Amino acid sequence: MVMFQGQVVESGSSEEILLQPEHPYTRRLLDAMPTLHQKGDVQGVSAKDRREAAQPTTAPEQETVIEGKNLALAYRNNRGKPVRVVEDVSFAVPKGEILGLVGESGSGKSTIAKAVLGLLDVDEGELLIRGRNLPALKGAERKVARREIGVVFQDPAASLDPRFPIGDIITEPMVVHKVGSPKDRKARAAELLEAVKLPAGVINRFPHELSGGQRQRISIARALSLSPSILIADEPTSALDVSVQARVLEMFAELQEQYAFACLFVSHDLAVVDQLADQIMVLEKGRVVEQGHKEQILRDPQMGYTKRLLAAAPVPDPRQQDERRAARQQLWEAQGLTAT
Ligand code: ADP
Ligand code: MG
Repeated sequence: MVMFQGQVVESGSSEEILLQPEHPYTRRLLDAMPTLHQKGDVQGVSAKDRREAAQPTTAPEQETVIEGKNLALAYRNNRGKPVRVVEDVSFAVPKGEILGLVGESGSGKSTIAKAVLGLLDVDEGELLIRGRNLPALKGAERKVARREIGVVFQDPAASLDPRFPIGDIITEPMVVHKVGSPKDRKARAAELLEAVKLPAGVINRFPHELSGGQRQRISIARALSLSPSILIADEPTSALDVSVQARVLEMFAELQEQYAFACLFVSHDLAVVDQLADQIMVLEKGRVVEQGHKEQILRDPQMGYTKRLLAAAPVPDPRQQDERRAARQQLWEAQGLTAT
């Protein structure tokens, strides 16, 4: 049963609705669902990939903005002893590129994101932000490095302070880092609202007056207020419904083109990563299983774990879903595992 604005617009068997949607709203919903593209499928190639393919030799080497070298990360247990959850992870993200972090729940994606944000101490290895080792930086230097990094989390309701109007929320990082006059900040807020495609009037509203999608646009605007060279996005669209997610992702891709930040994009959804990422790192239990160019990882995975993750990605077509279920079963059996 498909509902739109309190009304049932269409109902029927799942096959009928998913294979032959009649109502335009149902079609829009299905179109908005991100899908993993198959090998050789041109739609899976981003505009940026196509541009780069058109001029492969002219692209200059870009500066490496975020680099992890044999990183090990740990949480302290209640006796204060470090317990490692990420081990020997290395990666490099050049300016203007997105590294997609994928892996099942608990694989260490958010832990890596937290370390890059400076919220978690590095247990071993190096974490370089534009060539400077973040864990070694102290006080003022650390604050300067921190300015380079914007962040967007999954839950926009929890990360926006309900007591402040949107204009103040967006420019809070400017206040924290003492950037610009009140007039400058106001102008920057207006500029950012336009960048995230929200009406100028939103500036005086409060978070609870906005929808989930609008709130996530505000989180993104705030993350960009200091023009960071790095953006950390941890499941930024996972709490949004598919049609809202599709528009936010589209906007995200445009902003990334415009601002050319290096991005760590964490997602459990491979189709979302397919849409945005340049490189992909696959994590399992805190270790890297496989990493490389998106096309290679998603269209030609080498490792059993990556193959299983890909086989588990849902598709909206129920017949295809049945075929995939059978294929998944075979894959698991071939790897000597029991499918759950
Ligand atoms: P993901 O984001 O991939 O789902 P996380 O990075 O959140 O995974 O978690 C990786 C591992 O670290 C898990 O085993 C999780 O239980 C553990 N972990 C996460 N946060 C904490 C914490 N604050 N204290 C102790 N262990 C944690
Ligand atoms: Mg997480």
